[in-house]
Amino acid sequence: MLKAIPARHDNYIWLYSRDNLSIIVIDIPEIEPILSFFEQNPYKITALLLTHNHNDHVAGVAEFKHHFPDVPIIGPTECAYLGLTQVVDRGKFELNDYRIEVIPTGGHTTNHVSFWVDSHLFCGDCLFSAGCGRVFTGDYQQMFESIQRLKALPDDTLICAGHEYTLANLAFAETVLEDKSAVQKHKVLVESLRKQGLPSMPTTLSLEKDINPFLQAEDLPQFIKFRQDKDKF
Ligand SMILES: [Zn+2]
Repeated sequence: MLKAIPARHDNYIWLYSRDNLSIIVIDIPEIEPILSFFEQNPYKITALLLTHNHNDHVAGVAEFKHHFPDVPIIGPTECAYLGLTQVVDRGKFELNDYRIEVIPTGGHTTNHVSFWVDSHLFCGDCLFSAGCGRVFTGDYQQMFESIQRLKALPDDTLICAGHEYTLANLAFAETVLEDKSAVQKHKVLVESLRKQGLPSMPTTLSLEKDINPFLQAEDLPQFIKFRQDKDKF
């Protein structure tokens, strides 16, 4: 199962499970959507994974602990103060038959991580569909390197990002990409999905390479130019 549960204004809480295994939850902007989902669907939770220490990704941690006291909470160093079961900044770990690869994707925040599991990439606020996160407590070099790391994953990787920013990102992509055909085609699909209240993700890395300016930036200066232009867009 792969499910994006809308939370707050435009966040997603991602749920993933393989076969009949229990569910992995990625990021927790608030507790209510999770409580109502698990009341209606009495699955077990394997773990809560956190991508980075921004309030709209971790605000539900304390209440999550209260409701699911036995579920491990795993995240990067910058989230350690939340009382994590395990701090992970890179490398692989195993959890209930899941093999999870932690990819360092700093830039948006210094210790931001992404989780790659069974060809699904949970990339928080590093990579978005047709865009990328703003550079806050990390720096441009770090963000550029993070994007290169994600770009090196297999083309069929499913991109599961932390926000529904796709239409705004496509509007920007249309102004900067030379070949706009893939962007224009994808925009029609996303407009239709959004009208039905459906998420625009997951997408594939292969599609993102055609519609995402930040994956097409050839070097750091071009990446910085795209990022700064997008900040003002
Ligand atoms: Zn963030």
